[in-house]
Amino acid sequence: MAFAFDPHPTPTVAIAGSTDRIPVRRIFCIGRNYAAHAREMGKDPDRDPPFFFLKPADAVVDDGATLPYPPQTENFHHEAELVAVIGTGGRNIAEGEALGHVWGYAVGNDLTRRDLQLKARDQGRPWDLGKGFDRSAPIAPVHPVSKVGHPATGAIRLTVNGEVRQDADLAELIWSVPEMISILSHSMELKPGDLIMTGTPAGVGPLVPGDVCVVSIEGLGDLTTTIGPRA
Ligand code: MN
Repeated sequence: MAFAFDPHPTPTVAIAGSTDRIPVRRIFCIGRNYAAHAREMGKDPDRDPPFFFLKPADAVVDDGATLPYPPQTENFHHEAELVAVIGTGGRNIAEGEALGHVWGYAVGNDLTRRDLQLKARDQGRPWDLGKGFDRSAPIAPVHPVSKVGHPATGAIRLTVNGEVRQDADLAELIWSVPEMISILSHSMELKPGDLIMTGTPAGVGPLVPGDVCVVSIEGLGDLTTTIGPRA
């Protein structure tokens, strides 16, 4: 068997303190997982079952990258997020077992074409073009659980050109990492290399060409992304 054309290389994210890399399978994202962010998006925070969307695996971008300002948006937003990396797959995972499936954690930025996302949301259409566009998932090097444990509290902050835009604590997550893993695994079989972006706190806002955006999570380091000229 030969391929009709070269297969796409496996997308990967870095591992902190290692030259090894994590092969990325899928990127799951949860919507409205901090109450103050739900409110700023015009929705009531609640404990209704969470909803998820995906980005393509090859949307990942390393720490330190300069990204072109994406096309077809006039409202390109940052979203600081904790990322959980699945290392052991499974189906129907119980909440009490869920953390055993996590390989590590990283700092992420769920870059969003907010105008496209809100238009799709309000028309009852999919979010893909607002959320899953090229280079929409900067992810810093992943810290293994063996080094950092399972961060459930700690500051999560985002600055743009040094000005604080998002400043919250992981303890404010509406749905915890084990709850998200359990819920997702009852819907789809999780596999190693699946990433879960766990939602963003309040303070989302626009990025423009020339901005330097830094996301920090206590114990997990920083993720720096520079916005270049329009693509
Ligand atoms: Mn998000």
